[in-house]
Amino acid sequence: ATSSRQSLKIGMIPADGIGREVLPGAKAAIQALGSSLPKTEFIDLLAGFEYFTKTGTALPQETVEVLKNECDCALFGAVSSPSRKVVGYSSPIVALRKKMDLYANIRPVSSVAPSPEEKPQVDLVVIRENTECLYVKQETQTVGENGKEARATRLITERASRRVGEMAFKTALARPRKHVTIIHKSNVLSITDGLFRETVRAVPTLPGVNGAYDSVTIAEQLVDSAVYRLFREPHIYDVMVAPNLYGDIISDAAAALVGSLGLVPSINAGDTFVMGEPVHGSAPDIAGQDIANPLAAIRSAALMLRHLGYGDGADRIENAVDEVIREGRYLTPDLGGKSKTSEVVSEVVKRI
Ligand code: ATP
Ligand code: MG
Repeated sequence: ATSSRQSLKIGMIPADGIGREVLPGAKAAIQALGSSLPKTEFIDLLAGFEYFTKTGTALPQETVEVLKNECDCALFGAVSSPSRKVVGYSSPIVALRKKMDLYANIRPVSSVAPSPEEKPQVDLVVIRENTECLYVKQETQTVGENGKEARATRLITERASRRVGEMAFKTALARPRKHVTIIHKSNVLSITDGLFRETVRAVPTLPGVNGAYDSVTIAEQLVDSAVYRLFREPHIYDVMVAPNLYGDIISDAAAALVGSLGLVPSINAGDTFVMGEPVHGSAPDIAGQDIANPLAAIRSAALMLRHLGYGDGADRIENAVDEVIREGRYLTPDLGGKSKTSEVVSEVVKRI
């Protein structure tokens, strides 16, 4: 944690759809913190599917270079994912996670308690491995006896599993319940999921840990039963750590428990860089109407600041968001309200 920074440079990558509508809210929330942060500069950067359709590239080299050489952190909006394969296109967010070595996607999901004194019913963090699993996107199609045959490679490495496992234990240690649940399916996929499970389990015994995680309890669960229990008794979970695909699905499912995808933030974290990103996508069904919920993006900004050592600023943003939700007067339609994106943002800013 460093609060000794002279300035804070934030790369802003709105990308597509509602990503462009929610990112200004995140910026406004950070700006509202004023002098409690070092001098803050926002650098607008290009990427996305729409940018691809205009230029033939989804992630310009310049964006990556500015992030690497000038920025302390970044905020990403959302990217449209075409449902059919588009020749030459690959997702810029997947590429960014790899290029910036952002190996863990950290997604806290919690319900807002009816009053600040009470505890939320759902209060968990999904830690999703961010660089491999089926998302290495090595797919092939051939024609055989059974007609077309499609195959995908699933990569699980010890290094990536260990790094994401360490992130899970570190995260658990900082939370009151200090409990890690390892999500896998090693009864079926004994080699790949077996490696993930064994590697994460072994984190507390790594050299150098020296008992630091002794207070953390460990459980494990098959992914299917984890989803079932997530819906029936979500309070049993604290930190859930999972390979990329299971983590993706579980965190969307967990989002449903707290009311809307539009509430759930994330950060993509590596050892030297962090990028905030709402869990939701570009939501083409509501884009362009100024009704997207900006709270996931605003909370992502808070998570990013906390990761950089600005916990007080993060608290102020998160408390303002919780207050707006609890009051229930200024909510976007996904939460049953009638407010515009911009109205919700100004209510949050007012409370910060
Ligand atoms: P993409 O391919 O970009 O992920 P999608 O069609 O899967 O697009 P998502 O953004 O993942 O759309 O959203 C799924 C559903 O949740 C959509 O109906 C969308 O309108 C809704 N939703 C997502 N984010 C928000 C938000 N911030 N505010 C309101 N509704 C949202
Ligand atoms: Mg989606």
